[in-house]
Amino acid sequence: MNRDYDVIIIGAGHNGMTAAGYLSRAGKKVLVVERNAKVGGMTTSGFMIPEAPNHMVTPCAIEIIYLRQTGVIEDLELAKHGLRMIEPDPPYAYLHPDGSSICLFRDPKRTAEDIARIHPADGKAYLKFMEVLNALYEIGSPMMALDQGRPQPKVLWQMVKALVRNRKLRSELEAITSSTSDQVACEWFEHPATIAYLTGIASGAGPIDQDGNAAAYTMISMLHRIGTGKPIGSLQALSDAFASSIKASGATIMVNASVAEIIVENGETRGVRLEDGKVIGSKVVVASCDPKLAYQMVTPGGIERRLMQRMDHAPMARDNAAPFLANVAISKPLTLKRHQDLRHDDADLTKAVGMIGLVEDVRESFWAARRGEIPARHCLSVTPTSNIDSSQVPPGEAVAYIYLPSIAVKLRDGEWNQERKDYAMQTIMAQVNEFYDGFDAEVGRFVESPIDRQKRVNITNGCVTHIDFAASRSGLKRPAYGLGGPKPVVPGFFLGGASIHPGGGVTGLPGKITSDRVKHYLKKNP
Ligand SMILES: Cc1cc2nc3c(=O)[nH]c(=O)nc-3n(C[C@H](O)[C@H](O)[C@H](O)COP(=O)(O)OP(=O)(O)OC[C@H]3O[C@@H](n4cnc5c(N)ncnc54)[C@H](O)[C@@H]3O)c2cc1C
Repeated sequence: MNRDYDVIIIGAGHNGMTAAGYLSRAGKKVLVVERNAKVGGMTTSGFMIPEAPNHMVTPCAIEIIYLRQTGVIEDLELAKHGLRMIEPDPPYAYLHPDGSSICLFRDPKRTAEDIARIHPADGKAYLKFMEVLNALYEIGSPMMALDQGRPQPKVLWQMVKALVRNRKLRSELEAITSSTSDQVACEWFEHPATIAYLTGIASGAGPIDQDGNAAAYTMISMLHRIGTGKPIGSLQALSDAFASSIKASGATIMVNASVAEIIVENGETRGVRLEDGKVIGSKVVVASCDPKLAYQMVTPGGIERRLMQRMDHAPMARDNAAPFLANVAISKPLTLKRHQDLRHDDADLTKAVGMIGLVEDVRESFWAARRGEIPARHCLSVTPTSNIDSSQVPPGEAVAYIYLPSIAVKLRDGEWNQERKDYAMQTIMAQVNEFYDGFDAEVGRFVESPIDRQKRVNITNGCVTHIDFAASRSGLKRPAYGLGGPKPVVPGFFLGGASIHPGGGVTGLPGKITSDRVKHYLKKNP
C-alpha cells in the first residue's frame, strides 16, 4: 500500500484542524478527511432556517474561551486568515424572575458588588470564593496544556509554585474538587439568585449533583480572566480561518469524505478506506471524531479485544443528559426591557448571554433527563447573537441562540421526533418569553435534539465532550485507563479530538497535544 501521506486526520473539527496545522507547519504531508460538506464539526454555522434564509444559525459552540489562552490562534495565524472577535463585557448575566440580575463582568470586584446589591453577604463571599477558584485555575491551567505522558519540567515547576503559593487554601481546594457544584453553591452562598447564577454556570460541565463536578467553577475564574470571544460572522468564521491557515501551510482538506475503515495490517496502521471504497495510505491516522466509532472502524482484530471493550464502556452522556439547542429567527430586534430597566448601571444586558433558571430548575433538568422526561421548566441560556454581531441577520432583525445544558438523550415514551421537539420548544419559549421581548415576531427556527446532533456530527448520544468529563477520565485516563496515550494503542493510530486530555470545549489542546505525539512518533519511526 502506498503511503500517500505522512498523516491522515479524520474529522475537520477544530481539533483535527489544529493537529493538521501544527503537523503541516512541521513539514509533514497531511490530509484531513471530513464526512460533512464543510469544515467545523461542532464549531460550524450556516443559514439553516428555510423561512429565514439570511439569519445565521449556530448549531453547536457559540463562543471561544480557552482557545484564546493556548497560543493556537497565534501559532496558526488565524487572525491573518480572517478571524476577528467581539468580546462583550459582561459576557454573561443571570436573570432572576423578579427582574433583578447578576452580571458576570470581566472585573470580579464589579461582579461581587453586583451580587452584594442583591445580598451583601453573598457579595463578600464571592470575593473569597474567587480566591479559591483563582488558586484552582493557577494550579490546573498548566496541567490542561500538558501531555501528562511527557511532563515538561517547566510546567511542573509552574504548578508546584502555584501549589506552594496557595497552600493556605489547601482544605478549601480539596473540598471543592471533591464536592458537587450544587453543594458548593449552597454552602458558600445564601440568596437564590446567587445560587442559580453559580449552578447555571456549572451545569455546562454536566450534572450538578456529581461528586467532583464543583471543579467546574474554575470556569468562573477563566471567564473573569479571559472573557469570551464571539467570532465576527459566527463560529464558521473560526473554522474557515483554521481551514485557510492549514491549507496555506500545505495540508489538504477533503470534504464529503466519510471514513469507513482505519486500516491496520500486521499490527501497523496503513491508512483509511472511505465509504466510497477509495483507499488512502499513510504512516499515521489521527481520529479526532467519536473515539468509540473510531475504534470500531479499525480493521477487525487490529486492536486487542480487552481494549475494544474498555473503549466501548467509556461514558458518553451516561446520565442520559446532553444539550438541546435552538436558534430562533425574528423579524424585529430582541430586547430585555424589564431587567434592563431595573439595572442601576450602564451594563448592557441585551449583549450578554442571559442565564435563566432557578437552582430547582437546574436540578430538575438533570433529574428529568435521567427519567427520560421533558420537564416543564428548564435551566437555559439565551445568546442574543445578532445584538452582539449584527452582521449575522438582515438589518433590524434578530436571531437568538437558546442553549439547554441538559435534556434527555433517550426519552422514556419513544423517540425524539418533531412532535416532541415542538413540545420541548413550547415549554422553552414560555419560559424565555417571561424575560425577553421580540419572539412574537418569530419567522422560523432551527431545533436540534441530542439525537439530531448525533446524526449531524456523528457523535454517540450527541455528547459534546465526546467522552464525559470526570476526574477519573482526565489526563492519560481520558478516554479510559490505558487509552489516553502518549503511546498509540496500535503503532500509527492516535486519538486527537475532545475524547483525549484535556477534553471538550473549543481549546485546540487535544489537537495540539496530538500533533506533538505524532511528531515524536514519526521521528522514532521514520
Ligand atoms: C450545543 C453545543 C454548544 C457548545 N458550546 C460551546 C461553546 O460555546 N464554547 C466551547 O468552548 N465549547 C462549546 N461546545 C463544545 C465544543 O464545541 C466541542 O467540545 C468541540 O468543538 C469538539 O471539537 P473536536 O474537534 O474535538 O470534535 P468535533 O467538532 O466533533 O469534530 C469531529 C469531526 O469529525 C467528523 N467525523 C465524524 N465521523 C467521521 C468519519 N467517519 N469520517 C470523517 N469525518 C468524520 C465530524 O463530522 C466532525 O467534523 C458546545 C458543543 C455543543 C454541541
